[in-house]
Amino acid sequence: MNRQDKKCDCEDTQRHFLNRAFGRLELDDAQRDLLLSPFRETLISIPLKVRRNGIEVLRTFTGFRVQHNHARGPFKGGLRYHPASNLREIRALAQLMTWKTALVNIPYGGAKGGITVDPGELHRDELEVLTKRFAQKMGPLLGVHQDIVAPDVGTNPQVMAWILEEYSKAHGYTPGIVTGKPLELGGSEGRLEATGHGVATITRQAAVDHGIRLEGARIVIQGFGNVGSHLAQRLAELGATIIALSDARGGVLSEQGIDVGAARAHVREHGWLEDLPGTEFVSNAELLELPCDILIPAALESVIDCDNAERIKAPLIVEAANMPVTHQADDILRERGRTVVPDVLANAGGVLASYYEWVQNLQEFPWERDTVFYRLEERLLRVYGEVRRHAEARGVDLRTAAYELAIRRVADAISLRGF
Ligand code: GLU
Repeated sequence: MNRQDKKCDCEDTQRHFLNRAFGRLELDDAQRDLLLSPFRETLISIPLKVRRNGIEVLRTFTGFRVQHNHARGPFKGGLRYHPASNLREIRALAQLMTWKTALVNIPYGGAKGGITVDPGELHRDELEVLTKRFAQKMGPLLGVHQDIVAPDVGTNPQVMAWILEEYSKAHGYTPGIVTGKPLELGGSEGRLEATGHGVATITRQAAVDHGIRLEGARIVIQGFGNVGSHLAQRLAELGATIIALSDARGGVLSEQGIDVGAARAHVREHGWLEDLPGTEFVSNAELLELPCDILIPAALESVIDCDNAERIKAPLIVEAANMPVTHQADDILRERGRTVVPDVLANAGGVLASYYEWVQNLQEFPWERDTVFYRLEERLLRVYGEVRRHAEARGVDLRTAAYELAIRRVADAISLRGF
């Protein structure tokens, strides 16, 4: 492996991970091509009048929806609002959803959408119009049995509610068109916390397998959004010591452990973790390299790359974010004996809870909160066990094992249906 390789993007990383798994699956070239190719990619322009210093200016935003594969069920995946979002990123993330839904064996394919926008720069009413225009233009592609949208980086239950409203104008009230929506509109108990809760469930099991006792384990989390904050809270409840946390501005560190409740309250009040009492500042780059038992990147992709992989000290890395480790970094970490629990497994609690929400919508029969969490944990631990056993039996890492299991399911569905 060439460690001089320059930084790679998500599409490269995804292709390398797939090729690693493909090597062991007996698939012909046509099957591989079909598995790799997106079913449909849609790119739209969204004009929007925005107010800047009292003056109205017209801006045009770009929106995407990549529908990667629907061999096993409707397209499913989040919608991301981020200034750096682009088609290559969304394409790779859409494909990742295909493997994630297949791995946890829920009847969905994979998709992802995005708008290249910094949501923090727009007023709430501007964000509403932008979202509704996106939903209107993408409307013909969506459907409860066609393509179901969920939150991702930069979006939230309110954004889902706006999509629900726009879609329902044309089709009648259709809560199942989005998941991760507010409870008042047919959202599921536990969906908001599900991704973070699921990552904590998997982390606890992976820690046991590494001889790390979660009680008192020193954990570093990058990212304090919906996933990172619920994850930190849950891990603290399970007895772990969260020594560092971060958001887009930077991180906070306390060797004694951070009070996660106080951190959440501080963010609610000030908007950022910065200056959290009892902590010292640490940059996002330094945070990843801190000595700790478990490192959990829970923000954006490609944060662990060939530049910093040699300096990662944690023996166990759990991918709460999608694609936080580039393929070169993944190779370096493996050579250095580090274990990476891959995104398709670690953060699958989000889409699993989305599936539970959709089932409740289709049946018009809401579940109790305990039922959601019980089913979530039970399924995640079962899948974790499957991946681990497969990895041991085949002598491969967890990511390759997860990809092998997932790709096999999608390939079988394709050949049964005769695409
Ligand atoms: N955006 C989340 C993910 O990347 C959730 C997707 C969903 O629930 O459809 O897994």
